[in-house]
Amino acid sequence: MRLAIPKETQPGETRVAATPESVKKFKGLGLDVIVQSGAGASARISDSDYTAAGALVAPDAASTVKDADIVLKVRGPSPGEIVQLRNGAVLAALLSPHSEQDAIAAMAQAGITAFAMEFLPRISRAQAMDVLSSQANLAGYKAVIDAAAQFGRAMPMMMTAAGTIAPARVLVMGVGVAGLQAIATAKRLGAIVSATDVRPATKEQVESLGGTFVAVMDEEFKNAQTAAGYAKPMSADYQAKQSALIAETIRKQDIVITTALIPGRKAPILVSEEMIQSMKPGSVIVDLAAGAGGNTPLSKPDEIIEVHGVTIMGPTNLPGALATDASALYARNLFNFVSLIVDKKTGALALDWDDEIVKGAVVAKDGATVPRG
Ligand code: NAD
Repeated sequence: MRLAIPKETQPGETRVAATPESVKKFKGLGLDVIVQSGAGASARISDSDYTAAGALVAPDAASTVKDADIVLKVRGPSPGEIVQLRNGAVLAALLSPHSEQDAIAAMAQAGITAFAMEFLPRISRAQAMDVLSSQANLAGYKAVIDAAAQFGRAMPMMMTAAGTIAPARVLVMGVGVAGLQAIATAKRLGAIVSATDVRPATKEQVESLGGTFVAVMDEEFKNAQTAAGYAKPMSADYQAKQSALIAETIRKQDIVITTALIPGRKAPILVSEEMIQSMKPGSVIVDLAAGAGGNTPLSKPDEIIEVHGVTIMGPTNLPGALATDASALYARNLFNFVSLIVDKKTGALALDWDDEIVKGAVVAKDGATVPRG
């Protein structure tokens, strides 16, 4: 069986879906691995690193994927890439299944069995395959590092002969995987950290990292988590109460990191223009939801802007700014997923449609898209 790793084509995508380490492991499963020349270049992995690990290197995308039984990518394929895939091939990538329904329909039509890694169920058996977590963790870290670099003051308190520098105040909005890493990173840099989320379970997590939890804790808050562990959209009444509390908190902050997302929907607006106006000049906001509509109304995807003296950054691919680490984690996630769908004795595809993980992640099979319940 043949597993292919084409070069990513989306502008600005620096990650790659396999590393020499994962290539060796795929070989151990009995698979032949073929990598497109230059696929790892932006993640500092050369063609010769892949060949040393046992992969074949092909000159272009078409020859890489032509006879492949399994194709691994970071981003979903473009229409031009879909037609290159073999009818019957299995594809696993971040397919943006909520917004890219046409692309998924095209994959179904081309006879591809497509897995959207975003749809892996968040059960403990799937943790080692959870690309959303591995990438969000890096994004949370890098958001704080980038905010600190942009901020014209120091993060920790410093007591010097020339006087004392006050520590920076950092507010993290949305305490999922990215938010937790942002809190931990800001604490390590010596900031005074507070955080907010609508899921009650996050209060203890924030406090265990040494942060202060800020939220309106009413009845609605107590029920704001779905069975899958995600946030629910909140009522207008709750949002107004929460907004008043945040307005009071945000004035005193130097750095705000927003990470609030609701899967399949536009991100909630958490920081209004008035709140931004109330912040001190020189403050920094990093909006990790900028690609999903933004947690502020002013954020612009992949731009750094200054409004009312506040810098607003809207990075949409922070894991890509740490391409080597992000690729290493992503490649391990995908290896763990592929091990689940390949028979370890024969090296052949073994898709168990009763398996919660396989069933949860598939978005196209047998020539049709898979409807979501
Ligand atoms: P996410 O990226 O979907 O959202 C980020 C955060 O934004 C979430 O904490 C969410 O509650 C919050 N949010 C949404 N609306 C908000 C609002 N109006 N105000 C404030 N905050 C708001 O979340 P995620 O990082 O993917 O994590 C979601 C959950 O899944 C977490 O509980 C996480 O611990 C859990 N998880 C479980 C596993 C597992 O068990 N395998 C793996 C990863 C994550």
